[in-house]
Amino acid sequence: GILSTPGKCRSKEEKIFVTVRVRPMSSREIAQRDTADWECPDDHTVSYKQQPDRSPYPARYSFDRVFGPESSTKVVYEEGAKDVALSALSGINSTIFAYGQTSSGKTFTMRGVIENAIVDIYDAIEKNHQREYILKIAGLEIYNEVVRDLLNPDTGALRLLDDPERGTIVEKLTDTIVRDCKHLRQVLSICEAQRQVGETMLNDASSRSHQIIRLTVESIPRENGNGNGTVNSMVATLNFVDLAGSERASQTLSDGTRLKEGCHINRSLLTLSTVIRKLSNRTKSGHIPYRDSKLTRILQLSLGGNARTAIICTMSPARAHVEQSRNTLAFATRAK
Ligand code: ADP
Ligand code: MG
Repeated sequence: GILSTPGKCRSKEEKIFVTVRVRPMSSREIAQRDTADWECPDDHTVSYKQQPDRSPYPARYSFDRVFGPESSTKVVYEEGAKDVALSALSGINSTIFAYGQTSSGKTFTMRGVIENAIVDIYDAIEKNHQREYILKIAGLEIYNEVVRDLLNPDTGALRLLDDPERGTIVEKLTDTIVRDCKHLRQVLSICEAQRQVGETMLNDASSRSHQIIRLTVESIPRENGNGNGTVNSMVATLNFVDLAGSERASQTLSDGTRLKEGCHINRSLLTLSTVIRKLSNRTKSGHIPYRDSKLTRILQLSLGGNARTAIICTMSPARAHVEQSRNTLAFATRAK
């Protein structure tokens, strides 16, 4: 099984599981005669081939797992997300992120991760004769700190409320009870279609918005199951988060000019970076600023604490994107 993979046996309170996926060169990059300057010499390393002398940056970066351009999404899922996705079935809140600059492969990767995860989740549910499961799905998008319901966009901006027991809740967010895997796919495609509407209406929305697909997994012991009387009901959320383009968290443009605050900088993305950095830096964590953005408020109970987190950082191998790829690798390094 998956636990036999070296470096994958982590307990609940262990660090965030960070992986890097380098996509293949795109036809556009090839047409522009760009070159693939990053290579993955082994499953844990990504290195820069054209490292200049006295470069202030590292030539090599190492992570829990690095997926090269030839890696399939199936492998990325199996080794980078599956453990975290399935822990929701045992009542553990979990979050899987795709982080990277625009066009690095976040959406491509996250779609595949969701598709693989729902198959495994239904498989595990069918094989479990001790417990009876109820799944719910919700989809939301955060654009300019405004939260929108992907399953009911007509409700407009959704408010966040603080519930003493359940933490931050998204008021009026549609939570659809799922009948089976086919139904789940149908609801996912509604979210996807709605997201595309937003992208067409607002230019470059996908680089600025965060999409969260949230599965709520509830279970109770079956009456005649072995665990009857000893196991109680469980509930956990599993979040799939396709983040805004990481260039929205960069402090500088490629020529070094500072971007105007509030204009390009994405508050939720910047706050998430801080939260992740503080969570992984356990020796001096201190105050974790979950409340500084909508994204981190919504995800608070599924980050840190007993929650399990996987971050898949996506990047282009092309020379043209070296600066953004360095930023992504620096984020990934801070997160691990
Ligand atoms: P992002 O969501 O980060 O902006 P996308 O997921 O939309 O990026 O990917 C940009 C383009 O690259 C898309 O056309 C996508 O199909 C393609 N792509 C991304 N990752 C891969 C991959 N690993 N293999 C093949 N094509 C990919
Ligand atoms: Mg995208």
